[in-house]
Amino acid sequence: MTTVAASTSPAAFDARTDNTLSQLRQAGQIKHLQVIEGPMDATVRLRGHGEVACFCSNNYLGLANHPEVVQAAHDGITRYGAGTASVRFICGTFECHEQLERRIARFYGVESAYTFVSCWNANEAIFPTLCEPGDIIISDELNHASIIDSIRLAAVIKKGLHKTVYRHNDLASLRERLAQAAANPEITGTAWVVTDGVFSMEGDIADLPAMRALCDEFGAKLVVDDSHGTGVMGKTGRGTHEHWGMDGTQVDYFTGTLGKALGGAAGGYVAGSQRAIELLVQRGRPTLFSNALPCTVACSADKAIEVLMREPQRVQRLRDNVEYARNGIRAAGWDVLTSPTAICPIIVHETARAIALSKRLLEMGVFVIGFGFPVVAEGHARLRVQISAAHTTAHLDALIGALRKLKAEA
Ligand SMILES: *Cc1c(COP(=O)(O)O)cnc(C)c1O
Repeated sequence: MTTVAASTSPAAFDARTDNTLSQLRQAGQIKHLQVIEGPMDATVRLRGHGEVACFCSNNYLGLANHPEVVQAAHDGITRYGAGTASVRFICGTFECHEQLERRIARFYGVESAYTFVSCWNANEAIFPTLCEPGDIIISDELNHASIIDSIRLAAVIKKGLHKTVYRHNDLASLRERLAQAAANPEITGTAWVVTDGVFSMEGDIADLPAMRALCDEFGAKLVVDDSHGTGVMGKTGRGTHEHWGMDGTQVDYFTGTLGKALGGAAGGYVAGSQRAIELLVQRGRPTLFSNALPCTVACSADKAIEVLMREPQRVQRLRDNVEYARNGIRAAGWDVLTSPTAICPIIVHETARAIALSKRLLEMGVFVIGFGFPVVAEGHARLRVQISAAHTTAHLDALIGALRKLKAEA
């Protein structure tokens, strides 16, 4: 009879896991999932807290519970049933997928688009599929986790694919990386520059015109994940490029989510040139080996984009709300980062303080999440207030009033 060494026994996993969880508990970093008992809207029914004003969702345009968007999901399930029971290339492409992808391409003014079950998946598809050995991917150091992981995966799958990061939003650092790539004889293919459009923790944005100019100078491709910018930035909500006065063809590839402003359900996409989209259809592992976006979601997302294109005044309403909230937060005595986005981070420094403040706000009926280490750097803990077009002045006043009360308590 053989005996299993203690270090390789199944019990080792249990002990290790208990240890990790207890460390998180001791450091005050354990997350408790709040449960919502109804739809996502300006207010939500939060289990144990009743109806509270919601300032922490990405429901920027208030489309998650829009009657037409909800009805479109109903119509989708009635027409197509629950799902495809297939991947896209076998028998998993329904009319609603084609219609949604055409609409996304039209929304950006680009040739083509392809959907995924999440933007995480879209990012996981784009680099491992489009990049080849001899290419280099140059990434902002604060890019979303899904971009970081996609680049890591691409480098494992395609041996000889190079990767590097540049300092956050630092054009001199990006230029240096591009110049190094140009001088490196091992880099014989394409240079890819990738950035978030809107960075979710600071609410700051990428300088896309300057990045475009640098990419043109070095013959590089520009990829923008505009998950927090879509529906928010620019006069008609096309995204961060529109904010800068660019049209969709000035970005080589967009990735984005359908799980934030565009209905809030789930799903993601890549939009850009016909040839790259065709390559994703032929070679993208997340859709060759995994089911399509559910039809309910394809239909509700399609309707959400239709409503956004029909009613650009929602974007203006969001912008007005953001300005009102930002001014009110400042007048209440808090330090809020300036940004053209719908993300209003209130810097409170210590993680424990961010958590305590968020708890007090909830007691006052205002739902705001506190972010601390390790999500943001030590000493930069914050309350992240997110504004929606669904908020009325009364909701915004409730937020500002609660913050004023908190200031008086401090
Ligand atoms: C939210 C977000 C994602 C993930 O989107 P999902 O569709 O939920 O997977 C990806 N990238 C960025 C920049 C995001 O903000």
